[in-house]
Amino acid sequence: MIKKKIIIGNWKMNPLTLKEAEKLYGEVAAGVSRTKNTDIVICPPFLYLEKLTKIRTSKIKLGAQDAFAGDVGAFTGEVSSEMLYEIGARYVMLGHSEKRTLGESNIDVNKKLKGALASGLHPVLCVGETVRDENHGYFSLVKMQLEECLKGISKSSLSKIIIAYEPVWAISSTQNRKDATADDSREMAIFIRKILSDKFGKEAQSVKIIYGGSVNERDAEDFLSNGGVDGLLPGRASLDAKKFAKIVEICETLSR
Ligand code: PEP
Repeated sequence: MIKKKIIIGNWKMNPLTLKEAEKLYGEVAAGVSRTKNTDIVICPPFLYLEKLTKIRTSKIKLGAQDAFAGDVGAFTGEVSSEMLYEIGARYVMLGHSEKRTLGESNIDVNKKLKGALASGLHPVLCVGETVRDENHGYFSLVKMQLEECLKGISKSSLSKIIIAYEPVWAISSTQNRKDATADDSREMAIFIRKILSDKFGKEAQSVKIIYGGSVNERDAEDFLSNGGVDGLLPGRASLDAKKFAKIVEICETLSR
């Protein structure tokens, strides 16, 4: 099954002002304007989402970095998937390690994922281990994340879901981080695909699996060619329009 590759930029809690966000988004839009074969998603902070939908580009879809399950209600401080869809978001990252560190559980992520699907958003489910132990316990951890976060999800929803493998030890904000290799990515992508196939059968093929963890314009080609993935999720590199556009261009060239 040939799947269109996808590049998802996670801006995290950046930049500081709306003006800077609009400038960066405009630069990214210009940089990727000739893209044909790659899906591109930018996930800015909630606050900027609606404003960025006003900047014309047919190449980029917007995504949020989190969403609460449900539509409206007494949930102080939360933003629902329904609301996000309503203002123009089409993707939502769920279960990011920076949210899990603050206490988000697989059960929370599962509820959010169901809410996202019900609203029409594409969930980007982030999984990944904090450390790599010699006994390979990280495989069981990723398996548990997948099983618990995808509990009760129907086969017919699978083609909307993206799994982002993000080993926390390779993410740019992790202290004493290490580089993950394309081999690390490929090994885990194969494992994730096997877990999905065991659970869902052949429909599992429709799920995109992507890699994130300090991806940049220098190693994107290696991850895309040898990492066994259908796309990338750059964080820090997505805050530099030139670097992000270069990553998209690399993906585009490889997809031709
Ligand atoms: C992330 O945290 O989603 C991420 C991929 O960040 P970075 O590329 O900065 O490691």
